[in-house]
Amino acid sequence: MTVEGTLKKHLCIGCGICRAACPHGAIEMVAGRDLVRRPSIDREKCTSCGLCAKFCPNAPAKIAAMAASAARTRGAQPIAPEGVLARSFLCWDSGNDDGRRRSASGGIATAIALKLLEERKIDAVIHVRRVLSGRGEAHGVAAVSHTADEVDAGRGSIYEPIDFSDALLSLKDGARCFMTGTPCVVRGVKTLFAEHPRYRKMKLYTCALVCSHNVTPQFADYFADRKRIAKDARYTVDFRDKTGIKDAGNFNSCYAAEDGTNLHLANRNKNGWTRLWRSYAFAVPACCKCPDFWCVEADISVKDAWGKKEWIADPLGKSVVIIRSEEMRNAFAACAFETSPLETPEVAQMQKPQLVYKLDEAETKLKRSVLSPANIRNGHFRQVLTAWLTRWTYAHFGPFATAVVFKVLTIASSGGRKRKMPQHKNPA
Ligand SMILES: Cc1cc2nc3c(=O)[nH]c(=O)nc-3n(C[C@H](O)[C@H](O)[C@H](O)COP(=O)(O)OP(=O)(O)OC[C@H]3O[C@@H](n4cnc5c(N)ncnc54)[C@H](O)[C@@H]3O)c2cc1C
Repeated sequence: MTVEGTLKKHLCIGCGICRAACPHGAIEMVAGRDLVRRPSIDREKCTSCGLCAKFCPNAPAKIAAMAASAARTRGAQPIAPEGVLARSFLCWDSGNDDGRRRSASGGIATAIALKLLEERKIDAVIHVRRVLSGRGEAHGVAAVSHTADEVDAGRGSIYEPIDFSDALLSLKDGARCFMTGTPCVVRGVKTLFAEHPRYRKMKLYTCALVCSHNVTPQFADYFADRKRIAKDARYTVDFRDKTGIKDAGNFNSCYAAEDGTNLHLANRNKNGWTRLWRSYAFAVPACCKCPDFWCVEADISVKDAWGKKEWIADPLGKSVVIIRSEEMRNAFAACAFETSPLETPEVAQMQKPQLVYKLDEAETKLKRSVLSPANIRNGHFRQVLTAWLTRWTYAHFGPFATAVVFKVLTIASSGGRKRKMPQHKNPA
């Protein structure tokens, strides 16, 4: 049985919070044709208690409320809830070049997790680890790390929906955790720890990875096909490899075999990765509707420091950090990062076209037909069509047909003119 009733497949981000919340073990996470794991409910065990829907971060009513509030703030995107004093910084984990090289941006998320662990404020980090895998498998999995080495091994951004249910269910009473996640997942897990009887006695600090959108694991598989990596090869995938790059907007895509040899390593602005990403190819359906970017509920949000030449000039990467709680301010100060403060309006303007599209247009995208003139004008129709067609064609007909479809879509949408899809200066 697939998702029914209050859990909606088109809004599901495969986070597994519904399974972690179910007191009856009635939910299993099952990978669909697009390789995203979504809940499957066992009717025999289900008592209709409603906890799965209550804690689903993307339940329709919650998404609608968020979209309404996002649309209301037109032109002035809040980075913290009303009444919360947020502080923002440009920063990087100076003195740790090796760590930063393996991190997505400035290595801030990992450094804070390590500091909290070292100071014994937490005993576990819930995050994601890259895994050796092949076509049709997940390329990143949720992990609960207890040691500095385990936390360090998780650096980087993994562009895939992550099922956190096993990780959450493995936590023991009284656990004190730091968790990284995309805004949707952080929202859900935060509520779970605040209100669910099983998690209420645990402690959670949250770190949101500011997010434009996510893609299904098919994205990495299709890209491996395009780069002619052998069908049966096993590899780790890193779309933010920093080997030899000239600036922090020019990452490589890297597929590495178990013995460390590179099966593909090339600049992503030159090898087609960026075009694929920006077109929303293989985007998760829920991400096309998502009205969240900063995750104002998180204790801290971290994003790439993009937008100014001097910010990306250092190829090791820098981060923009928004801190919303006293405890995180203390941990941040204890890390002794290299920092410079940022004004809220400056932060709120970052990736502006993306924000306008994602937040200002949120209600239009949710309430009106995807074929409505407004949704055609704002690029939503094209985005949904590209995302759906690439996912569907790849699942049913494989890479060659998908490449043809993608080419046709690209030509049709450009019409020989400059594309209108909201862009930001660098890819996510
Ligand atoms: C899908 C996605 C889209 C993003 N889009 C944008 C964007 O549009 N603009 C922008 O500025 N930033 C975006 N980011 C955030 C950015 O890529 C970095 O994650 C962020 O700047 C933190 O970098 P860091 O060097 O401080 O983290 P690191 O020190 O590299 O640590 C990152 C931590 O996050 C964990 N992690 C990695 N991937 C995931 C995941 N999918 N779910 C949960 N935990 C994970 C890692 O295990 C690690 O613990 C996105 C991230 C993701 C995953």
